[in-house]
Amino acid sequence: MRFTLALATTATLALTSVTLAPTAANAHTHNGGPTAVGFGGAVSTVDATATAVGLDVLRRGGNAVDAAVAAAATLGVTEPFSAGIGGGGFFVYYDAERGTVSTIDGRESGPATMTEDIFIDPADGKPYDFQEARVSGLSVGTPGTLATWEAAARKWGTRSLSSLLLPAARVADNGFTVDATFHQQIADNAAAFGQFDSTRELYLPGGAPPAVGAVQRNPDLADTYRLIAKRGTGVFYHGSVGADVVRTVQHPPVADDPTGTWAYPIRPGGLTRSDLAGYQVRYPAPTRSGYRGLTVYGMSTPSSGGTAVGEALNILEKTDLSKVSTTQALHQYAESTALTFADRNRYVGAYTPQPVLDKLISDSWATQRACQIDPGHALTKPVPPGDITATGCTPARVGGPVEQGQSTTNLTVADRWGNIVEYTLTIEQTGGNAMVVPGRGFLLNNEMTDFNFAPTQGTAPDPNLPGPDKRPRSSMSPTIVLKNDKPFLALGSPGGATIITTVLQVLINRIDLGMTLPEAMAAPRASQRNTAGIQAEPAFHQQYGPGLTALGHTFSADVPELGAATAIEFTRHGGLIATAEPARRGGGSAAVVRPRR
Ligand code: GLU
Repeated sequence: MRFTLALATTATLALTSVTLAPTAANAHTHNGGPTAVGFGGAVSTVDATATAVGLDVLRRGGNAVDAAVAAAATLGVTEPFSAGIGGGGFFVYYDAERGTVSTIDGRESGPATMTEDIFIDPADGKPYDFQEARVSGLSVGTPGTLATWEAAARKWGTRSLSSLLLPAARVADNGFTVDATFHQQIADNAAAFGQFDSTRELYLPGGAPPAVGAVQRNPDLADTYRLIAKRGTGVFYHGSVGADVVRTVQHPPVADDPTGTWAYPIRPGGLTRSDLAGYQVRYPAPTRSGYRGLTVYGMSTPSSGGTAVGEALNILEKTDLSKVSTTQALHQYAESTALTFADRNRYVGAYTPQPVLDKLISDSWATQRACQIDPGHALTKPVPPGDITATGCTPARVGGPVEQGQSTTNLTVADRWGNIVEYTLTIEQTGGNAMVVPGRGFLLNNEMTDFNFAPTQGTAPDPNLPGPDKRPRSSMSPTIVLKNDKPFLALGSPGGATIITTVLQVLINRIDLGMTLPEAMAAPRASQRNTAGIQAEPAFHQQYGPGLTALGHTFSADVPELGAATAIEFTRHGGLIATAEPARRGGGSAAVVRPRR
C-alpha cells in the first residue's frame, strides 16, 4: 500500500507525531515511501499504516520489539490475507546491549491427532488437490502469532502487549483505504471466500470485493484485539476466542447459498481446544554462517530459511562474484540455489538433528557441493541432493520436487539503541484457508499444507511429512547480518520457497554486485529452486536470459513478481537506510524517526 492512501487513515488515528510529507530535497527518500534515510530508529513494512504505527511507537520511546509487535498487529488488520493472529511466523531479534541474536519460532503446529496421511483422500488413496486441502479444516495448525507477540514483548519489549494491540484495534475500527493490492487479493480469492458466511460478509460486501478507494473496517477484529488486550492471550489459547477457532475448524461456517462455485467438498479438521492450550513458542538458536567476513544469522528449523541461505552463501563464497561478469555471478547464484534446494528438500524438516543442520551450513559441505558447478555450463535440473555421509564431491542420490507459495508479509525494525527485529509472519496462502472465524474478524491459516502431502524423496525418508504436534517446514528467512560484530543489514521477504532466493539475491546484489540497498531491492529477481527452468520476473528474463541461456539454463514461464522484501542497512555513525519495495505488491513503506535533511 502506498503512503498517500494512508494519509486519511493516519489522520483518523491521530498519529500526529508521524511525519508524512516528503521534503522537496528528499523526494524519493521520504518517510512512508520505499526508502527513508536518517537516524534514531526505522520501520519498514509492506503497508504505510503499519509503518506509521510502528514509527509512532518508536517516537514515543518504545523499542524495536514494541514497534515490531504494534506494526505486526496492524498488518493483521490492513494485510489480513497475509498475516494475523490466525497464523504464525518467525521473529529474529538482535539485542544491541548484549550483542546477541535470538529467535522465536511461532510456527503453527499440527494437531495432536494429525496423521501422516492427513492429505491423502481415503476415497482413492491419492493426495488431495492443493485447493481442496487448503480450503478445509485439515490445513489449520494451532496459531502461534499471538504467542509470539506476547513472548517478544515480555522478553525484550518495554510495553505491555495490551498497549501494543490498541493502535491496531483503532485502525480496525476506523478503517483504512482499500488499495489495488487489497482489492485484487480478494478478487483472486472470491470463489473460496464466497463459500463462508463470515468471510463474504467481511470481504465480499454485496457479493463483490470492496472497490479501490472504499474504506474497509473490521469491528469484530477490533473487539477481538481489545478483548485480548483486556484479558490477556489466555482468551485465545484457553478461552472463548480459541473455542471459536476450534469450532470453525471442526464445523466450517459454510454458507447455505454460497457465492460462486467451489469444486471441492469442504472438510472439517481435527484441531482441538487442548491443541491450543498446549501451544508453546520455541526459542531455537539462530543459524550462523560467515560470508566474506560478514556473519549471517537466520532462522533455524522448522524453517529451512537459515540453513538454505547459509548453504547457498557458502557455495557462492567459493567464487569472487565481484570479479566475474554479471552473467557468471547469476549463473553461480542459480546453481547454488538448485544444489541447496535439493539438500533442503532431502534433509530439512522440523526434526532434523542438529549435526545434520550443522553439516549443511558448514564450509566443508559447501566445498563438496560447489565442486559440482561448472562455470561454463549449467547442471541438468533437478540435481540430486548430496550424500551427507560421503566425503569429496558429493555422489548423486534421487531428487525430488519443490513447492512454492505467495502470501506472507515481512517487517524490519531498528530502534535508537541499536536493537533490531526481523520478523516474517504468515497465514500461508493469500487468504489462508479462506475461513474468517465468525464474530472474531480474522482468517485462519492453511499452514499444514506446507507439509508434503506424500513422500517426495523416493526411497529416502522425507523430512517434511505431517505428524502429530509437528510444525511444517517453512522457507521464511528473516536474516540479520553483522559486520565486525555490529549490525550491517537486516532483511526478509514473503514468497513461499522463493523467500530463500529473494533474500539471497538482495544479499549478493548489495554485497557483491555493487548495488546500494534500494537498488538491490528494486533489481529484477529470479529463482532457481532445482526445477528444470528458472522462474523469473520479465525484466530479469529480458536482461539476463540470453546470457544464462547460452550457459545452458532454461526458463519456466515468467512470473509478474517475486517477493515483497523489507530491509534496513546500518551505516556509520548510527545512520539508517530503511527500504521497502518500490513497486512489488503495490509498493512498501519505510520510515525513520529522524529523517536526514
Ligand atoms: N508458508 C510459507 C512458508 O512458511 C510462506 C508462504 C508465503 O510466503 O507465501 O514458507
